[in-house]
Amino acid sequence: TAAPTDPEAVVKKYLVEVKGTPVDEDCIICMEKLASPSGYSDTCECRTIKPEMVGRLMNCQHSFHMLCVLAMYSNGNKDGSLQCPSCKTIYGEKTGTQPKGRMEVSTFPQSLPGHRDCGTIQIVYHISRGIQGPEHPNPGMPYTARGFPRYCYLPDNEKGRKVLELLKVAWNRRLIFTVGTSNTTGESNTVVWNEIHHKTEMDTNLSGHGYPDPNYLDNVLAELAAQGVTEDCLRK
Ligand code: NAD
Ligand code: ZN
Ligand code: ZN
Repeated sequence: TAAPTDPEAVVKKYLVEVKGTPVDEDCIICMEKLASPSGYSDTCECRTIKPEMVGRLMNCQHSFHMLCVLAMYSNGNKDGSLQCPSCKTIYGEKTGTQPKGRMEVSTFPQSLPGHRDCGTIQIVYHISRGIQGPEHPNPGMPYTARGFPRYCYLPDNEKGRKVLELLKVAWNRRLIFTVGTSNTTGESNTVVWNEIHHKTEMDTNLSGHGYPDPNYLDNVLAELAAQGVTEDCLRK
């Protein structure tokens, strides 16, 4: 991934300054009118971006105070990417906060319910407990890692192999897991799944995270796309 870039440069890379016409719209970051100065004027010291500057994101066309976008960016993991707070369009390459670990892939001939015409891809995620970094909720505090290694399954067909390649991209961008609070156990400061669903059961579906599930591959492709991981990433 790219080295951290100057925050002001990131904002200016993806927002086009809107000038002249008064904008009778709210900035959904600070909830002030776009025609008034940014609500972050006092908290965000910035040389080149003034509190009254308004910018429009280049692809989705949503507008915000440029200083508000700077504040939002500075609050995140500062990876050089921006995500529109209104429509979630991603600018640049979104990365996450997945702790260090290992992703292992193998195949076996046994098939999955609903995919009887092919074998199975097995992904094993290994993550161990450790100490939270500056990108995590409580830097310096330990995090736990429950239920690892975690075993996941995909049908070994064309679509399943495509999902696998995209999951590898997501893994390298640190998007598969995060450190937070588990919905299932309520434990905080622990490694949890992050918005990209995996099938952790193969021939039972007691948890709802197993097969058969005819929509699974399409659903996970949509979840990957929502994180900026699409087929385009495989062509580069
Ligand atoms: P979580 O409970 O905070 O949920 C985050 C997301 O993961 C949610 O979208 C949820 O739907 C999904 N999820 C929940 N349980 C899942 C499961 N069993 N398989 C696949 N997806 C699941 O996330 P979490 O705390 O990371 O995981 C939930 C629980 O599942 C934890 O208690 C974990 O230890 C356990 N788990 C164990 C194994 C294992 O091999 N022993 C594997 C996977 C998950
Ligand atoms: Zn604002
Ligand atoms: Zn947008």
